[in-house]
Amino acid sequence: MIVSELFHSIQGEGHLTGKPMFFIRAQGCAVKCPIRDVCDQPEALAFKGGRDYAPATLADLAVEAVGSRGWVSITGGEPLDQADFDQVVAACRHAGLFVNVQTSGLRRVNAPWDWCTVSPKAPVDDLALRFAQELKVVYTGQSIGELQAYYERFSAWNYYLQPCWRDGRSNQDETLARVYELNRLGMYWEFTAQWHKFLGVR
Ligand code: SF4
Repeated sequence: MIVSELFHSIQGEGHLTGKPMFFIRAQGCAVKCPIRDVCDQPEALAFKGGRDYAPATLADLAVEAVGSRGWVSITGGEPLDQADFDQVVAACRHAGLFVNVQTSGLRRVNAPWDWCTVSPKAPVDDLALRFAQELKVVYTGQSIGELQAYYERFSAWNYYLQPCWRDGRSNQDETLARVYELNRLGMYWEFTAQWHKFLGVR
């Protein structure tokens, strides 16, 4: 897998917040993403640079960081744009690790994940994946109708709205107001921040 960075930290977003994880950030993203201009991983977007790692090496490095029953997060970029994504998941699970896959939902996932986080960058009807443990929408002003479509046509255990950062400012107040509104309408969405940013860790 071509990797832009490897690091050990805690998960700062969504249901797994606080879990120590080894992060594998795949290099490259081909998704036509509406928030590409404010993507918080600009260095991982282009399909150039990065370093090639064998799946078994990535699993070994993860075990070294988090132990053999720890968590690994495979993120990006778009990790499913990598040809050997399935082999990396298989190597990590073979090593005893729990695997969190973070994807836009525009590609199918064949490898057996332990926890899938879909952060959709397209309307629900355009997604190839329609189920995951959590759906995490970066809030950029989506209408109630758009969010309701995700809620009704994407099967998840948890639905999150996450603030979007632009020019050093987060729209957290608007995001929170939208979460309250959705709950009043009978849709159980939750708010998630990016707690690692507040903690000052990666
Ligand atoms: S899909 Fe994710 S990695 Fe790709 S441009 Fe959008 S926010 Fe960035």
